Amino acid sequence: MKHPERLVLILGDQLDLRSSALRDIDPQKDEIIMIESANEAQYVWSHQAKIALFLSAMRHFASELEKLGYPLTYVKNSPLSIVEVLKEQILRRNVKCLVCIEPGEWRLKQAIEALSKELGIYLEMLEDEHFYCSRNEFIEWAANKKEFRLEYFYRLMRKKHQILIDGDGEPEGGQWNFDQDNRKPYPKKGPGIIDAPVSFEVDHITQEVLDFVAKTYPNHPGSLRSFHWPVTRDQALKALEYFVEYRLRNFGIYQDAMWVDTPFGWHSILSSALNLKLLNPREVVEAVLVAWKKYSLDLSTVEGFIRQILGWREFVRGMYFLDMPKMAEDNHYQHKRPLPQWYWTGQTGMSCMRDAIGQTLKYGYAHHIQRLMVTGNFALLAEILPQAVCEWYLAIYVDAIEWVELPNTAGMALFANGGRFTSKPYIASGAYIKRMSNYCGSCKYKPEVRFGEEACPITTLYWNFLIKHRKQFESNPRTRLMTANLKKISDEDQEKISLHAKELLNDLDVL
Ligand code: FAD
Ligand code: SF4
Repeated sequence: MKHPERLVLILGDQLDLRSSALRDIDPQKDEIIMIESANEAQYVWSHQAKIALFLSAMRHFASELEKLGYPLTYVKNSPLSIVEVLKEQILRRNVKCLVCIEPGEWRLKQAIEALSKELGIYLEMLEDEHFYCSRNEFIEWAANKKEFRLEYFYRLMRKKHQILIDGDGEPEGGQWNFDQDNRKPYPKKGPGIIDAPVSFEVDHITQEVLDFVAKTYPNHPGSLRSFHWPVTRDQALKALEYFVEYRLRNFGIYQDAMWVDTPFGWHSILSSALNLKLLNPREVVEAVLVAWKKYSLDLSTVEGFIRQILGWREFVRGMYFLDMPKMAEDNHYQHKRPLPQWYWTGQTGMSCMRDAIGQTLKYGYAHHIQRLMVTGNFALLAEILPQAVCEWYLAIYVDAIEWVELPNTAGMALFANGGRFTSKPYIASGAYIKRMSNYCGSCKYKPEVRFGEEACPITTLYWNFLIKHRKQFESNPRTRLMTANLKKISDEDQEKISLHAKELLNDLDVL
């Protein structure tokens, strides 16, 4: 048995051959370790496709490493946790130094640090160079700020990295943000022909993983039948190339639009490849900038897309590490209700929820507005315990890793941290969903009805939420209009809304 001087841990979401962990490897003295842990698949009730994606991408990466001659120990299907396997390997092989890139999950980072202390070994935890903004840089930016807003951080990133900045140092097109142009619904007749996302053949490695997951986790939610995710860097690059050539042109304008049986819209579907580190955000941004000129795309679509990568993605990661572990515990509104069972099955009479959850179970994917304004909006209005909601998001999306899932769910969708980095709670009634989709047309409820049998539960719960939190919404200039509209509803009808909402909240499972 080899006794490596340095054991280099590569986690399942660190699949980058150019990573700093691999840079100084001495094949004679060092060894890489990759660990498949059942614990990771089970600590939340993970979607089958999410488990399969991680395992397949890890196995493909391991085979690349082996082809390149890296010394690798690959631990398959361990029933132990990552840290338990590490401990066993370190002790058995008398390792004195453990190297890893900082994990994207706070709990794992803490556990690895604790292990190295317990065993008295040297821990070399390297910065994750995948991101534009290092954790320290974000901490410096955040210092002395009481409120954290994406917009200012994003402008800083644009300037620092000279992205969409013209020759005079001003933002391209004279504006930092084209958000207003990027909120259109599909035309009344529907989205028309959308170029389908590229999908990848299942090779023997993926097939073996799919069989394994089907056999080992048959009771986990979701389906494996539509598994089409990129699992190698080559595939991820093809997905990027295809997106910028065919789908980017309409990304911006229809970014918020929803339509029955249109799971991907014009979105990039690159989040899982980015989060597994098969793609680097810099090459994604570069490809988008090249496509802008090559295909004469609208600046609004290009800016809208780059804002997601250079802005939101970096920003939420910074906030996650700044606010953990508190972020996972926050519960601003003290909501306590359990998650309705149908979040795991999609079996609800609400057509919008059925569609968003249905496609999530099928693919492990829903786009941003479905996550924020359909499933997230409902969870906030229905006063669900934030931790139960966060667990669902972490389990059910193939791109879910805690550093990106938690701030989006707890911070953005649920306002669980009281608005540390959002200027208002994101709530909406059925009217918003009606405007942005065709869901309501096939629904047994009516979006404009506020109480009674036909009332849209989202509309009832929206007004109920405003009634309950009237003061907070009135004192915020960004939500004052909502309470102004509430004033137009008679006291008698407000009373009926509250009563109907109480009935709904008492039995969310029957909706
Ligand atoms: P596109 O719409 O094409 O956007 C391009 C890329 O920008 C994405 O691939 C992603 O990398 C990045 N991006 C866009 N919005 C965000 C954002 N708000 N935060 C961080 N990055 C963003 N994203 C995840 O990657 N993992 C998650 O677990 C996750 N959980 C979410 C939970 C909730 C409640 C909400 C509201 C959003 C969540 N997001 C998450 C952000 C966003 O919804 C997804 O990144 C996006 O839907 C992925 O699809 P796409 O690749 O087609 O993205
Ligand atoms: Fe959703 Fe309400 Fe519209 Fe039904 S009526 S689809 S519940 S918004």
